[in-house]
Amino acid sequence: MDLNYSTEDLAFRAEVRAFLEAKLPQDLSDAVRLGRGLGKEGHDRWHSILNEQGWLAPTWPEEYGGCGWNAVQRHIFDEECCRAHAPRIVPFGLTMLAPVLQKFGSDQQRAYFLPKILSGEHWWCQGYSEPGAGSDLASLRTRAVRDGDHYVVNGQKTWTTLGQYANWIFCLVRTDPDAKQQEGISFLLIDMDTPGIEVRPIILLDGTHEVNEVWFTDVRVPVENLVGEENKGWTYAKYLLTHERTNIAGVGFSQAGLEAVKRLARQQIHRGRPLIENPHFAARLARAEIDLMAMATTNLRIISAAAQGQAPGVESSMLKVKGTEIRQEINDLARRAAGVYALPFASEALAGDNSALAPPEGSDAAAAQYFNNRKLSIFGGSNEIQKNIIAKVSLGGRT
Ligand SMILES: Cc1cc2nc3c(=O)[nH]c(=O)nc-3n(C[C@H](O)[C@H](O)[C@H](O)COP(=O)(O)OP(=O)(O)OC[C@H]3O[C@@H](n4cnc5c(N)ncnc54)[C@H](O)[C@@H]3O)c2cc1C
Repeated sequence: MDLNYSTEDLAFRAEVRAFLEAKLPQDLSDAVRLGRGLGKEGHDRWHSILNEQGWLAPTWPEEYGGCGWNAVQRHIFDEECCRAHAPRIVPFGLTMLAPVLQKFGSDQQRAYFLPKILSGEHWWCQGYSEPGAGSDLASLRTRAVRDGDHYVVNGQKTWTTLGQYANWIFCLVRTDPDAKQQEGISFLLIDMDTPGIEVRPIILLDGTHEVNEVWFTDVRVPVENLVGEENKGWTYAKYLLTHERTNIAGVGFSQAGLEAVKRLARQQIHRGRPLIENPHFAARLARAEIDLMAMATTNLRIISAAAQGQAPGVESSMLKVKGTEIRQEINDLARRAAGVYALPFASEALAGDNSALAPPEGSDAAAAQYFNNRKLSIFGGSNEIQKNIIAKVSLGGRT
């Protein structure tokens, strides 16, 4: 296995870097670099720029509008985007729903939905979790009852990320209450403009509005919006989650985050010397960097295996656990490096409103980011659950 980049890979990296230098708007890059929120307009703008370039869907097959990149090129693209502080592409349509439609959807669904994901006309959100159905997702209770050529949906979803911007939601619903838990679930695509849907905000620890509750009261959904077969939704749901978890590892985000911490720690003076020279701080920084290098190598090994046709399995759980632990450690180091400047962690900092304190660059949002990223080890299946999966698969079921 050769983990070095080829001449073609290096040329591709130069091409991506040149594109980002020319096309990434400065205000978006600044917002990402300083840890501030983007809002719908910012996300939409970057989405359009990438779509125009034909670089929006690196993981899609070319026949649907994908880039035709191999796994190493996708990795290089991610790395370069993070390095340039490009906005994260909202994953729900592009990297979560699309693979499910491509593998299990009908021809009509692929022809109708995939182009609208690319154009940005459809903004998707994920309706999996419910109160009482998070880790134990199969106990979900939102009902869909067949009535002629419609399903009638009643129930509640929760933690729906960016649901306030979405015009479509993919939902797991119970279509057979008498079957064994996993066998009575279906996968439905629901237009958020349908009467009977209500989106209620949940305000997070950092004061931001990022997640929501979504309520369904007698919502009529055409039967053609069922993906695959009725009561087989659990299979499609699990397939989607594998894509969600690999995506969360965020090697590039951590690399960019680590560089930002180093910059901050060089500027901050602690007992007369730059903080980066403090032995305790330097030791933690070194540990985070070593862990990150090890994870980046694991990531490359998995990419290399995938390039040879071996499908990633439990590795997506491993990357999710390690990736989120490292990102949270980097957030904590940033918060500590910012010192007193991290104290006013009010949500206004995310909107860039905290500058009256004239803090070192990037430190005013450090605490807000630290609190916000507590979520990383919870969503996409909590890290405890991922460890159970790893133990089951790798240690032969002794959990
Ligand atoms: C910010 C944020 C955004 C989210 N976005 C979305 C979204 O867009 N769409 C969506 O559908 N969902 C979303 N989620 C929901 C997320 O997937 C769930 O929170 C997650 O699956 C955990 O479920 P829970 O919150 O019900 O916790 P619980 O399942 O109640 O777990 C509580 C604690 O117990 C532990 N635990 C539970 N069972 C076990 C076990 N068997 N062994 C060991 N430990 C266990 C868990 O690991 C956790 O630490 C989001 C969550 C957050 C926090």
